[in-house]
Amino acid sequence: MSLPDSLPCPAAARAQQALAEAETVCQQRGSRLTDLRRRVLEIIWNSPAPLGAYAILDVLRDDGRPGAPPTVYRALDFLLDQGLIHRLASLNVFTGCHQPGTQHGGQFLICRDCGRVDELDNATLDGLLQAEATARGFTVFAQTVEMLGRCPDCPAEITTDGR
Ligand SMILES: [Zn+2]
Ligand SMILES: [Zn+2]
Repeated sequence: MSLPDSLPCPAAARAQQALAEAETVCQQRGSRLTDLRRRVLEIIWNSPAPLGAYAILDVLRDDGRPGAPPTVYRALDFLLDQGLIHRLASLNVFTGCHQPGTQHGGQFLICRDCGRVDELDNATLDGLLQAEATARGFTVFAQTVEMLGRCPDCPAEITTDGR
């Protein structure tokens, strides 16, 4: 059924697409996207900014699904293992991955003001970082690059003291 006059809210549409992709990825790998794991992923995608485990726990409680933190951490570990989400260590929050089917590190632009995160999928950057590590005999297990700054939607700071 299509509603030509009203496009779905972009965030909701993106979440639906991400969930469908997650189903496919898990099916292909023979891993199980349980109800809880699916819901946690949906909560992450529905949020305009990345969420911490306790914020996710709060939404689950609102769902009438009170769970202990370990339950949520296990679900998050599964989603991380499957590459469906990324963890931003500097903020200890989780964000949905746009390319869950491919193995990649991640480069993230994190807006300090609104908390929005953009994921870059730059294979060249990934390759450069890998090469630098390899040249030093370093084996990389995980690679996440986090850049903190201001997104184009947030106004620049106004300095009032003239310095
Ligand atoms: Zn990603
Ligand atoms: Zn911003």
